[in-house]
Order: sequence, then structure tokens, then C-alpha cells
Amino acid sequence: MKRFIFLGPPGAGKGTQAVQLSEGAAIAHISTGDILRAAVKAQTPLGMKADDYMSRGDLVPDSLVLNLVKERLAEADAQEGWILDGFPRNAAQAASLDDLLGAIGQTSDCTVNFEVPDDVLVQRLLQRGRKDDTEAVIRHRLGVYREQTAPLIDFYQSRQKLVSIDGNTDVATVASSLRAFIH
Ligand code: AMP
Repeated sequence: MKRFIFLGPPGAGKGTQAVQLSEGAAIAHISTGDILRAAVKAQTPLGMKADDYMSRGDLVPDSLVLNLVKERLAEADAQEGWILDGFPRNAAQAASLDDLLGAIGQTSDCTVNFEVPDDVLVQRLLQRGRKDDTEAVIRHRLGVYREQTAPLIDFYQSRQKLVSIDGNTDVATVASSLRAFIH
């Protein structure tokens, strides 16, 4: 397997696991959050449009995100495989991803769902201390996740392409359960 969708709430450890797996398997790590934060920092047109949504903990409009995913999937390292980390985030993005992959003749091999209880997520995110990691914004992001992103668990489950992993443990243990599933 070499094409993965990482699903799970903010703070579930998707990014940490994606970095390790992408390095180990020499595939692209595509984090829409990282790409958007870099765009905000560089004050590109994309970053300027995304900034307010991100500070509030709302999803950035689909059109902006789709475009960046499309461009990123076209880069050389993504031809070897990829991990989508933080995308898709709602039903419309999932449908667009199908179209996008169809157009380039690819499919995802597996969706990994990282499960962590809400109280643990809040504690982890408060410790991380990113700009959008204040308690009020964290609670809002968890609400957005529950409403818009969590329904994708059923969507990918119904295609029998989903594995759920207990993310409420240490990084090495999560990494080994991940390897056991995706070898
Ligand atoms: P993350 O680093 O994945 O937690 O994302 C941080 C923020 O970037 C989110 O709260 C959203 O504002 C924005 N973002 C990241 N990925 C997406 C996406 N796929 N769709 C819309 N907004 C996104």
C-alpha cells in the first residue's frame, strides 16, 4: 500500500505518524494544514484568504484547499505514493478527491482513522500551543470535526477501506499498530 488518507480529530497524532511513515516509505506527506500555515506565514494570496478561517478554527473554503491538493499531487515525490493528512475534511472534499484521483488514474489504498477521546485531545492541543490552540478555538475545531469530518468515517468504512487505530497511547505504539495494518 502506498496511498493513504489519515482521518481523525485535531490532536490525534496524524501529523506525527504521517511524518514517520512518509520518511520510512519514501512517499509524499501532504498536510493541508502545514501548506496553509506556510502560505499564511509567507502572506501569499492563498494565505491571506485562509488566515481568518484558520484563526477561528473554521474550515477554509473547499475551492482553495482542492486546488492546493491538486497541485501537490502532481509533484514528483507524490508519484511514489502519498499520505493525505487533514484532507478530505467534509463530504464535498471527499467527492472532489474521488474526481481528482479519477482524473489522474489513482485510488487511495486505505483510510486510517485515529481514535482519541476528546478530553485527551484538548490536553494535547493545549500543550502544543499553536496559534489556533487556545481552548475556545480547540473546542470549536472539535465541533467542526464532529459535524463535518467524522461522517467520512462511515463513508470510507462503507467502501471497506477503513482501519481504526487507537491513538490514545504513545507514538511508538501507534506507529507499530499502523505498520501492522498497512505492511
Ligand atoms: P490542521 O493542521 O490539519 O489541524 O489544520 C489547521 C487548520 O487549517 C484547520 O483548522 C482549517 O482551518 C485549515 N485546514 C486544514 N486542512 C483543511 C481542509 N482539508 N479543508 C479546510 N480547511 C482546512
